[in-house]
Amino acid sequence: MELATGYRNSTPDPIEVYSRPSTRNGCPSQPDVFAELESNVRTYCRSFPTVFTRAKGALLFDERGQSYIDFLAGAGALNYGHNPDFIREQLIEYLQDDGIMQGLDLFTVPKRQFLEEFNRHILQPRGLDYKVQFCGPTGANSIEAALKLARMATGRSNIVSFTGGWHGMTAGCLAVTGNQEHRAAAGVPLHSVVRCPFPVGPFAVTNGLELLQSWFSDSSSGVELPAAIILETVQAEGGIYVAPTEWLRKLRQLCDSYGILLIIDDVQAGCGRTGSFFSFERAGIVPDIVCLSKSIGGYGLPMSLVLMRRSLDCWKPGQHTGTFRGNQLAFVAATAALQLWKDQAFVEQIDFRAQMVKEFLTERIVALNPAMKIRGLGLIWGVDLSKVGGGELAKRVSRRCFDNGLIIERCGRDDETLKILPPLNIAEAHLLKGLGILAEAIRAEYRVSRELQELRQDDCN
Ligand code: PLP
Repeated sequence: MELATGYRNSTPDPIEVYSRPSTRNGCPSQPDVFAELESNVRTYCRSFPTVFTRAKGALLFDERGQSYIDFLAGAGALNYGHNPDFIREQLIEYLQDDGIMQGLDLFTVPKRQFLEEFNRHILQPRGLDYKVQFCGPTGANSIEAALKLARMATGRSNIVSFTGGWHGMTAGCLAVTGNQEHRAAAGVPLHSVVRCPFPVGPFAVTNGLELLQSWFSDSSSGVELPAAIILETVQAEGGIYVAPTEWLRKLRQLCDSYGILLIIDDVQAGCGRTGSFFSFERAGIVPDIVCLSKSIGGYGLPMSLVLMRRSLDCWKPGQHTGTFRGNQLAFVAATAALQLWKDQAFVEQIDFRAQMVKEFLTERIVALNPAMKIRGLGLIWGVDLSKVGGGELAKRVSRRCFDNGLIIERCGRDDETLKILPPLNIAEAHLLKGLGILAEAIRAEYRVSRELQELRQDDCN
């Protein structure tokens, strides 16, 4: 389909496309067929009610010809941006050659290439000696497999997870997830998990590890020694809370002392999101089990992995299967994406952009009102409005951003935190433009909310 932007044919500078005079009128086209036929469970499309057609890099286009800078990036599945040419070429070649598409877990060339390259460019340089388990294609699949494996390998059933943690929607994942609304939807008791307070966040308890230590040492604590402790080193859906490196090291030591397996859920924070390939590298720790999904598929293609210490691989053949655990196109895309990690410049440009985001947020948002909190690292940042208007204000900001050409979602217990999650290789101009739209939306909506507050106060007086 020919788009009003003409972007496909003439490929002008995307910034130029972006800054065309907008015909946006705040009145989205009505995608009634979705309301009529798609389940009420749909979610992101409620925040961004338009029909998208194309995407390139950090830009999305809709059928009204509008363009949007993407700070959602497939909820972390598009770390390398939309449709990067160097991956697309490999996919097209594979399709044109009639490469095998459905391979269950048969040996295939794409799988072999992925394993070799993943070992060569990711595991070996980091001194990691993991075996790789391919799971069904979603992050939840890898969490389920990791929990099962930990329980089987230790012969224990209990798991420790953290308040504010978010690990997916299947029953096993919900048991280790904190969010009450999501847990309630399971409809069955979610058990064999004890929750420890996370060291950062609105309900932080900094000595949570001492609590765990006390439980595990006390034979009368009533808490079973767990098979594993599972966590995100940066809680993403929970509100962008970054676990301190010293705390992570203590957690590793605690696990070692009691023979507990450490599972890092790197489904969202992995694949470079925090500035290094794995989110735990900054703490210098080595987990026993790592879950990866989302951006490992390179091109937004579904793929998920469990990495396990070699000695933990106690699976019997076929004990954990799944029809779609061999997504060949994802193997091709993932292998292509891994080539980026050979180049130190790729890592440096993430750091550079991270610094840009931090400086921008400090100068334009914290300066506006220090009660607006910012936090993050790499290219995962949150602007927390809980002290100045909470989820309601954040919702209005997100909506204003959308009207002005920026896709940005919310996270946190009350959806009070705007989540900045652009592709890692976003053009600097797009990054600044997106941040500018965000800052302007916060300024405008904050002003409106203060005026409303003043009016209410006048009414009361
Ligand atoms: N773990 C984390 C940290 C996540 O952010 C997510 C999804 O957002 C999941 C697990 C579940 O992944 P999926 O939605 O692909 O099942």
